[in-house]
Amino acid sequence: MKSFKEIYRGAENKIAGIGAAPGIIIGEAYLYTKEKLQISNKDVEDIEKAKYDLTEAIAKSKKELTKIFAVAREMMGEVRALIFEAQLMILDDPILLNEIVRRIETEKKSPEYIVDDEISKYQSKMVLSHESYMKERALDIEDIKQRIIRNLQKRRWESKIDHNVVVVSETLTPADTILLSRNKVLAFVTDHGGLTSHAAIISRSLNIPAVVGTHNSTNQIKDGDEVVVDGFYGYVIIKPTEEQKAFFSDKRKRLLKLQKELEELKDKKAVTKDGKEIKLYANVDVSGEIDVVVTSGANGIGLYRSEQILNELGEFPSEDEQTTIYSKLSSRIYPKSITIRVFDIGGDKFRFLDFQEPNPFLGLRGVRLLLENPSMLKTQLRAILKASVNKNIKLMLPMVSTIEEIRETKKIFEECKKELRNEKIKFDRDIQVGIMIEVPAAAVMAKEFAHEVDFLSIGTNDLIQYLMAVDRGNDLVSKLYQEFSPVILRTLKNIVSAARKAKKPVSLCGEMAADTLAMPLLIGLGLESLSLSPSTIPYAKRIIRSCDYKKAKRLSDKCLLLPTEVEIKETIEKFFTKNKITRTRQII
Ligand code: PEP
Ligand code: MG
Repeated sequence: MKSFKEIYRGAENKIAGIGAAPGIIIGEAYLYTKEKLQISNKDVEDIEKAKYDLTEAIAKSKKELTKIFAVAREMMGEVRALIFEAQLMILDDPILLNEIVRRIETEKKSPEYIVDDEISKYQSKMVLSHESYMKERALDIEDIKQRIIRNLQKRRWESKIDHNVVVVSETLTPADTILLSRNKVLAFVTDHGGLTSHAAIISRSLNIPAVVGTHNSTNQIKDGDEVVVDGFYGYVIIKPTEEQKAFFSDKRKRLLKLQKELEELKDKKAVTKDGKEIKLYANVDVSGEIDVVVTSGANGIGLYRSEQILNELGEFPSEDEQTTIYSKLSSRIYPKSITIRVFDIGGDKFRFLDFQEPNPFLGLRGVRLLLENPSMLKTQLRAILKASVNKNIKLMLPMVSTIEEIRETKKIFEECKKELRNEKIKFDRDIQVGIMIEVPAAAVMAKEFAHEVDFLSIGTNDLIQYLMAVDRGNDLVSKLYQEFSPVILRTLKNIVSAARKAKKPVSLCGEMAADTLAMPLLIGLGLESLSLSPSTIPYAKRIIRSCDYKKAKRLSDKCLLLPTEVEIKETIEKFFTKNKITRTRQII
């Protein structure tokens, strides 16, 4: 049997995109094109009737969106569904609506023409923005605009599909994705959009395989074509050959079989063959993932990236709104625990500053930015405290590079506790505070830092970037982003020893924990707690259960003496072969 690489090499019927949600699907393509609405700019004589039609169309659009909002809430949870609430708010915006009415009265043009013109003005401002988030929001507004115009023209959109299909579309708005996924959608393929596009996020939450950002799928794929969608590697194959079809059917069968086997591990512990238990926690980015966490058999949530709320909402939620979000998470995961990381803003994440920093990764990011904006930090800390009554919340600080930052934050945290006591509001008085070790300074000083806090969590995504001086998102230097570099191994070893000396627990929550090749090494280095994306937990558990701790320890001791990444990786691969441990890609 050929490998994935071999099957893709030279295949002329493939389209490359971004694997946005994992899975393999073979199915019939359904070209989802929204009919381009023709906009009439004819003059209107009856102004009152035009205004009445507008009010009716807005009311109808509202009704439709309210329905979609309710469905979304059910399918994706409160926070994720808020995008639709934001769309509803546009329909209630008095400035926008008054301006449309004013222009109908003065210009005497058809409402659809004025609606199109007025809302397009908003959109062009957003498209010009450098923020990918704002560009995505421009798409949401397109959805609203088309909805009102369609209702003015009294037309309907069809989103009912009566048989299993792969939806292929230029773009998908959040509403499209939700509505289509209620039908028989096997997978999504889009021309545009990246990993942060809503189609991608929603597909992941709903477990529907997706390939996005393919540029021209809608030109190359015809309605009814048979296609293969590979959400692991990010490829779409049009009209697969017999050989390709046999290959992917086989992969799919193996994947389903593997997933079934993994399901059986759900309630089993992640223990090595010689009895050492490794606690596996989940990293959570969107609240909709909580259901996956619950079914993945995780020991709790080891990293909740709270800045994701800002990405979803596009603004800072109030103390009450944050309290509601954190309380819901805490209750949903109870009696297990959740570690909430305060907003890690800056770098390549949610931008807060109006100006572009020359070196954002070395700039005002994480705890640095929060300490510069104490009121924002206090709002979040108060909300976390208020939500802590179940006593299962821990607090974590990102991007710490000095002891002063820890002390300063803890001082503010104590102030918040004092305020709540005065206000007679209950909270967990023993709430633990930990830090991320993701900056070389913190790694070097790990023992001293550990004395200041209750726990440490190693963020290898950033730690590798800062130790190797490589931008984690830059393709040009991706060869130097070496997870298995001796530099990383030795640094991890030092952090684990430092935590031990300080008698504080240490965990690892970077993507490295989800790399099955790294698993024996991490166990061998002495890590007893890992946090990884929920869908990868069963895969990690399988590897741990087929490993022997003593052998893993010998492996890591050996690797710690090697001078290059190549030699380290070869040694680990030999370990897998010698101990007959198979990795997912080899199985499927
Ligand atoms: C990390 O840096 O490893 C980490 C877990 O944080 P993030 O990926 O959110 O920066
Ligand atoms: Mg980080």
